[in-house]
Amino acid sequence: MVPSIEELEVYAKENHIPIMLKDGINYMLTYIKENHVKNILEIGAAIGYSAICMCLVDDDIHVTTVERDEERYNEAVKNIKNFHLEERITIYYQDAFTLELNDLFDLIFIDAAKSQYIKFFEKFTPLLKVGGVVFSDNLNFHGLIYTTEKIESRNVRGLVRKLKDYILFLEENTMFDTEFYDIGDGISISKKRG
Ligand code: SAM
Repeated sequence: MVPSIEELEVYAKENHIPIMLKDGINYMLTYIKENHVKNILEIGAAIGYSAICMCLVDDDIHVTTVERDEERYNEAVKNIKNFHLEERITIYYQDAFTLELNDLFDLIFIDAAKSQYIKFFEKFTPLLKVGGVVFSDNLNFHGLIYTTEKIESRNVRGLVRKLKDYILFLEENTMFDTEFYDIGDGISISKKRG
């Protein structure tokens, strides 16, 4: 029996797996549908939730994704199989920085380690078609990006600083037009200029 998307959401919640928030994923799925996006690269698969949601938008969508955590990767492989999407989702078990691809993509979804967003952007955007877009998630970092209070944890402070650097990097990047949206946990859409 094919499991439901809701079952994946419950599993993620119970196992503390950070999947995309409902508003954010719905916004991205609408974008995919309206712009006839067909070939997608995702960085950060977790249990395959967003990759499966994206594939279900249309029968001719293909998603390439990557996950470095073994347990999550295995869970993603199982879920992809249960949804009968093995032919349309290619998943790699490795660190995204070691991934070498030759395909061209209509959309790249960056949803992995927040401290490395600039590096992911630089590594993978050469694979983006002109007019293609990069979606980035978690830019609000649960509201912490806007806080004026001192953040106690040094680690969290560092991540917030990195995300702010990324936002500035996107704003100043003249090869892309970036729009920021206060949807889900904060997303941006950066369109590659011709
Ligand atoms: N996109 C997923 C969804 O919405 O269903 C959620 C992804 S979760 C926010 C981020 C995932 O990226 C984690 O499972 C983490 O292990 C993985 N990750 C982080 N850095 C990575 C890297 N350098 N290479 C591959 N995976 C990475």
